[in-house]
Amino acid sequence: MTDTLQADGLTDEALKDLAERAGRELEDSSASDILRWAADTFGNGFCVTSSMEDAVVAHLASQVFPGVDVVFLDTGYHFEETIGTRDAVGAVMDVNLITLTPRQSVAEQDVEYGPKLHDRDPDLCCALRKVKPLEEGLTAYAAWATGLRRDESPTRANTPVVGWDEKRRKVKVSPIARWTQDDVDAYVAEHGVLTNPLLTDGYASVGCAPCTRRVLEGEDARAGRWAGRGKTECGLHG
Ligand code: SF4
Repeated sequence: MTDTLQADGLTDEALKDLAERAGRELEDSSASDILRWAADTFGNGFCVTSSMEDAVVAHLASQVFPGVDVVFLDTGYHFEETIGTRDAVGAVMDVNLITLTPRQSVAEQDVEYGPKLHDRDPDLCCALRKVKPLEEGLTAYAAWATGLRRDESPTRANTPVVGWDEKRRKVKVSPIARWTQDDVDAYVAEHGVLTNPLLTDGYASVGCAPCTRRVLEGEDARAGRWAGRGKTECGLHG
């Protein structure tokens, strides 16, 4: 990382220009080079978010930015395998693991909104347990990295490798946007990267337990998320 950070003191408009230019210039760059650009540009103002479906982006980032902040959102509804993956990542990887939690526990939310809000109003449940906590957690950063890939679903087909997150007014880095599932599998195998055990148990995408099912043959990777509820994204990436 350089001593002088390119992003220091920039206005939101300048950050937006920087992100959009980087998105064009880094489109054909490797995931490591994209993350190196982010580390050099933002330093400690940069974090990786991880759903702990796998630790590929966290691993990539830790190679170019040892000790990088890796942010995990604990909704209170995760599979125990996801929490186990989070704990393993914190134990074996050179990252600073940060767990964000919603303002209310599940029990407190049940008292205020009634039980199983995820079945009755999943948008509100995601807003309370995902979107709001992440927005609060990201205030400490100018840029965040995600593991979004264009091949995951039609809604992600135009994901830039670096772009501007207008909702949060942050630079959003998606270093593996151009990767396929085969690329992910190859990286995992080559580097022995931690993955959520549910990925080998029929789950192609892992979210909260009440809103995630196994995928069927021929379905896209995210078909098991909020199946039958007319919802495809939690609001973190919309
Ligand atoms: Fe609630 Fe389901 Fe969203 Fe998790 S994925 S926050 S349980 S609606």
